[in-house]
Amino acid sequence: MFIGHYAVAFALKGKEKGTSLGMLFIATQFVDILFFPFVLLGIEKLKLIKGFTQVNNYSMDFYPFTHSLLGVALWALLFFFLYFYKFAKNKTAKKSIAIVMALAVLSHWFADLLMHTPDLPLITGEPKYGFGMWKNKFLSFLTEAVLLFYGLVYYLNNTKSVSKVGKYASSFFVIFMLVVSYLDLYVLPKDDNVTTLTITALFAYFLFAGIAHYIDKKRI
Ligand SMILES: [Zn+2]
Repeated sequence: MFIGHYAVAFALKGKEKGTSLGMLFIATQFVDILFFPFVLLGIEKLKLIKGFTQVNNYSMDFYPFTHSLLGVALWALLFFFLYFYKFAKNKTAKKSIAIVMALAVLSHWFADLLMHTPDLPLITGEPKYGFGMWKNKFLSFLTEAVLLFYGLVYYLNNTKSVSKVGKYASSFFVIFMLVVSYLDLYVLPKDDNVTTLTITALFAYFLFAGIAHYIDKKRI
């Protein structure tokens, strides 16, 4: 899953106002941010296969450190402790903030579960899970768009804008992400090189997190 993860970021921000939307964008995508560099370093494995699904031309054969349920849970625990004892330690809502940040990280596995072919392990090796929505490009796009729409609506209903920018920016941002996702799925050529794939993925993740951080400042 790509932009669908951000539905959770928007919803969690609506739930716990003490969190940063930018950091929630990082947290919900955290294990993918690690996955691509881990592949480059040879720690995890991705195999390029043309037409593997309608969405991806690669399979993810070995990625227990970032994408096993145990792995994701441990990264989530790390976020909990980092926020509880460091980043949010002076805030009254530090426990709630830490829990929300951990949930954001954990949500990645369950969102991926919808899209992936059965390649998500619990620890490592079999059994592996995945409902395989990536086999249908249109269904994949639609699912992520619908999730993102509901996340945005929840966010808008639970936060208030402090300026004109705050009123419209988040909706435009969601449309922008949908356009990027559409171009990625339907227009742009598929990357057939792990290095370019890594660079484009990381660029998109950090660009979106940066924009999320900016628009979130315009709402309370
Ligand atoms: Zn993932």
